[in-house]
Amino acid sequence: MLFDPVRSLSKVRHEFGEHGGVNMSIETSTTFTVMAAEIMPEIFKGEKNPEQGGCFLYGRHFNPTVYVLGRYLAAIEGTESAYATSSGISAIACSIMQLCSPGDEIVASNAIYGGTFALFKQFFPLKTGIKVRFVDITNLDEVKGAMTENTRAIFTESISNPTMKIADISRLAAVAHQADAKLVVDNTFSPMILSPAQHGADIVIHSMTKFMGGGSDIIAGAVCASKEFIMELMDLHTGAMMLLGPTMDPRVAFDLSLRLPHLGLRMKEHSRRARFFADRLESFGLDVSYPGLKSHPQSTLLESMMNEGFGAGGLFAIDLGTADRAFEFMNDLQQHEGFGMLAVSLGYFDTLMSCSASSTSSELSDDELREAGIAPGLVRVSLGYTGTLEDRWDQFERALKRVKLI
Ligand SMILES: *Cc1c(COP(=O)(O)O)cnc(C)c1O
Repeated sequence: MLFDPVRSLSKVRHEFGEHGGVNMSIETSTTFTVMAAEIMPEIFKGEKNPEQGGCFLYGRHFNPTVYVLGRYLAAIEGTESAYATSSGISAIACSIMQLCSPGDEIVASNAIYGGTFALFKQFFPLKTGIKVRFVDITNLDEVKGAMTENTRAIFTESISNPTMKIADISRLAAVAHQADAKLVVDNTFSPMILSPAQHGADIVIHSMTKFMGGGSDIIAGAVCASKEFIMELMDLHTGAMMLLGPTMDPRVAFDLSLRLPHLGLRMKEHSRRARFFADRLESFGLDVSYPGLKSHPQSTLLESMMNEGFGAGGLFAIDLGTADRAFEFMNDLQQHEGFGMLAVSLGYFDTLMSCSASSTSSELSDDELREAGIAPGLVRVSLGYTGTLEDRWDQFERALKRVKLI
C-alpha cells in the first residue's frame, strides 16, 4: 500500500481548545509547573520529557503547541517524530551539527539552496571543522567516491533548487547506510509529493517558509526523524536545537497548524497549473525544466517515488539564454501583465519568479554555477494558484511574444 500523507495526517488525534474550541489553544507559557519537587531532577536527567510522560519544562525545550505541530509534521512525512524550528536553515544547521563533530564530513549535493550552500561551503568548515564534499547527487558513483570513513551524512534536496534534479532517495539511503552514515533530505520543494522517509531517508527537513506556510509571511522550519534523533536534538545538555535555541514560537506553531490541513489541496493545484505551463512551454520549443515532463531526464525516477495525486510540484525553470532576456521577460510579466512578482522564495499562493544565477544562487562562483547547471538566463518560477489558469497562461504567452521568445 502506497503512503498517503493526507490520510496519515487525518489520523492524528484532534487537539481541542481549552473550552472545546475546534482549534487547539496556544500555550504561551515559557515555563511549566511540576506537580512535585521530585519530578524536576527526573526531567533534567532526560527521563520525563513529553515523549515519556508528558512533562514540559521550558519553552526553548518542548512546548505543547509546537509539539502538536510536530505530530502533524511527523504524520505528513511518515516519521516517528518531528519538531519545528524558527527557520528552515536552522533545521539544517542543527541536524548536521548534531550528526557531526569537528573532523567529520558530509557529502552534499552541489545543486542546493544558496543559503545551505553558503552554510556548508564557508561556515561549517571555518567555524565548526565539519568538512563538506560537494557532488553531483544524480551521479551515484561520484557520491560513493566522495564517501570516507569520516562521512556522517549525505545531504540532498529531494527536488533540487533551482535545477529540478531529482535525488534517487532509496539508492542514496543505501550508500549512506552502508557507510554507517545518515541520509538527510531537504523536502522543501515537494511536501506531500515525496515522502523521503518512506524511501529510506533518516532525517527529512523542511523550510516551512515555503509551501507549508503558503503565505510568504512566516519564516519556519522542521526536522522530521526518529524519536531518538529528535530527543538528541532536544537533549538539555548536548542537543543542538536546545543549546543553539532555534525552537519555534508557539504562536507561530499555532498559525502553521491551521495551514497544514489544506497543504495537500494546495500542492495539487500548484502542480496542476505548473504541469499545464510546462506542457505549453515545451510545445513552443522553449527550454523548460519540469520534473513532471517526459523530457525531464529523471521523470521516471520521480514517478517511481511520488505519492499518488499531488503531481510533480509547483516549480519549473526556463532557460531564456541570457540574463538580459530573463530580466526583460520577468519585468514584462510583473510590470506589464501584473502576472506574479519578481521575488525570491517559493510556495506562495501567487507566482514568484527570480533569476537564480544572480540571486538565490549568487553564493556560487561561475564555475560552481556551471557545475550545478544553473545557466545565467535560467528563470525559476514558483507558480501560484490565484486567478484562473486560462487567464494566467494568456498573460504568460503575451509576455513571451512581447519579448520575442515565441
Ligand atoms: C528557503 C529554503 C531553505 C531555507 O529556509 P528558511 O526558512 O529561509 O530558513 C532551505 N532549503 C530550501 C530548499 C529552501 O528553499
